[in-house]
Amino acid sequence: MTTSIAHTLLHHRCPACGQGKIFEKLASVVAVCAHCHLPLGKADLGDGPAFIILSLLCVVVTPLLVVLAFIYAWPTGVLIGVAAISLGGSTLLLLRPVRAALIALQYQHRPDTFYRHTLGQS
Ligand SMILES: [Zn+2]
Repeated sequence: MTTSIAHTLLHHRCPACGQGKIFEKLASVVAVCAHCHLPLGKADLGDGPAFIILSLLCVVVTPLLVVLAFIYAWPTGVLIGVAAISLGGSTLLLLRPVRAALIALQYQHRPDTFYRHTLGQS
């Protein structure tokens, strides 16, 4: 049974069974699903989640900071503080959903990634 990408994104559950948790601690992917034993640790996420999050945040946060800097004339130190807090907080909030969505997409479109170890390939 394959669950939907939205279910995996919202509930952070295994894309194969929909039961086991994907993450342990903050955003570390578990090695295997506790329910169906899908090797979730084999997901090849690379820098994809970081790239997606930073791209989204640059589109949203940069115009906001430009408005704050030029229209409201906030001091540079305050702008740097607001940028650091907003970018850091948003990154932490988005990290798990984006990683979960990418794992679900990879499971649907490249399931061989998860099963390579059972076929004797690295
Ligand atoms: Zn599972």
